[in-house]
Amino acid sequence: PESPAPTASLTARSDALFKRAQQVIPGGVNSPVRAFKSVGGSPRFIARADGATLTDADGQNYLDYIGSWGPMILGHNHPAVRQAIQDALPFGTSFGAPNEREVLLAELVTRLTGTEKVRFVSSGTEATMSALRLARGFVGQTEPGRKYTLKFRGNYHGHADALLVEAGSGLMTNATSLGGAAPSSAGVPPEYAALTLVAEYNDAAGLDDLMAQRGHEIAAVIFEPVVGNAGVLIPSADFLAALHRVRGAGALLIADEVMTGFRLSLSGATGLLGLEPDLTCWGKIIGGGLPVGAYGGRSEIMDFVSPLGPVYQAGTLSGNPLAMAAGLATLTELERDPGIYTQLERYTAALGAGLSDLAAQAGVPITVNTIGSMLTAFFLEGDVQHYGQAARADTAAFSQWFRAMLAGGVYWAPSQFESIFVSAAHTPADLDFTLSAAQSAFTHLKE
Ligand code: PLP
Repeated sequence: PESPAPTASLTARSDALFKRAQQVIPGGVNSPVRAFKSVGGSPRFIARADGATLTDADGQNYLDYIGSWGPMILGHNHPAVRQAIQDALPFGTSFGAPNEREVLLAELVTRLTGTEKVRFVSSGTEATMSALRLARGFVGQTEPGRKYTLKFRGNYHGHADALLVEAGSGLMTNATSLGGAAPSSAGVPPEYAALTLVAEYNDAAGLDDLMAQRGHEIAAVIFEPVVGNAGVLIPSADFLAALHRVRGAGALLIADEVMTGFRLSLSGATGLLGLEPDLTCWGKIIGGGLPVGAYGGRSEIMDFVSPLGPVYQAGTLSGNPLAMAAGLATLTELERDPGIYTQLERYTAALGAGLSDLAAQAGVPITVNTIGSMLTAFFLEGDVQHYGQAARADTAAFSQWFRAMLAGGVYWAPSQFESIFVSAAHTPADLDFTLSAAQSAFTHLKE
């Protein structure tokens, strides 16, 4: 298909679409951070995506660092993924009955991650929500008093009620009058939120203390093994050890690998960091750009899910054949060429080092956190290891820098509190282009 022909105004068609969208969709968007509310300007409506390039409705090209917020690790419109979807398409788009591709993807995921069983759902939110219910149900069969969940400040696990407590991602970006108070969203009764305890990420002593006091009431501890949703936060060795200790208190450990799964390695962040969770949640990459989530763990726990067990969970489109095909093709490609991870890490580290140098030259304080293909440039001075430190960032400076980057043809994440993602489609020339745009954006900030 042809890309839209460039218009005279750089944003005329996007602006017109945004105006229409606002009439019929709240805020004109179907997910809040897309609205550019915190960074200013109006969102670009994307007409096509190929490799590392997004083309908007006005025919403008942008070098993409969002990758659909994580799924597109191979780049957009990857030939193997497109072919897999095309191969599946003539056979029907949804059956509401089992199909072979579900078995193939489940076999692949369990083999790569060392999990025994997985259940597919349609989003990351469904995965974490279901894993939590399963954990409560499983632990509750012998200890019904364990009703509480523990999560970490600034970690985001999707938008289920129980997890919208001191949450990161869009809740950090679009801070409302509810601010950082629990719950993070209107419509979540405080009685629900009261069942979710919150601890500071990367605070091993704080976690140990909380577990010592309340451990006997906690069914599960859910965490991002590497945080992307407060911007990138890397877990310390102490903190990882404290996470492992929660099992000593009888709570299940739920790793939310919706963002990091198959991104930081074929066995995710948990594989990379040597963590052994009881349950793991996936999303994003596992669906290759189509709607898929999954949760999995030991058979003993997973068999507690319906139809074998008493914990109910279902889905009309779960195991959708097109989505399974896209996920299978993506994971197969990653397994076929594990060199992808080495390249991603190298490019991301180079991008991080380049940004740090350019900011220093321009006299703009930034702290860059990177791991694998994830990167956040926090506009502040000093270490960023937890939510409180991330929240000190100069969001006004970030917003100005974001707008300059966009004007320079680079589509960075439109929020200070998100990770950007380098994909296998980015080239050294793309990195040079990005750093050159960044240099002028940093210089512009000081003017
Ligand atoms: N968990 C994590 C770590 C995420 O990053 C996200 C989404 O960004 C979710 C859960 C929710 O996934 P979804 O947006 O597919 O519901």
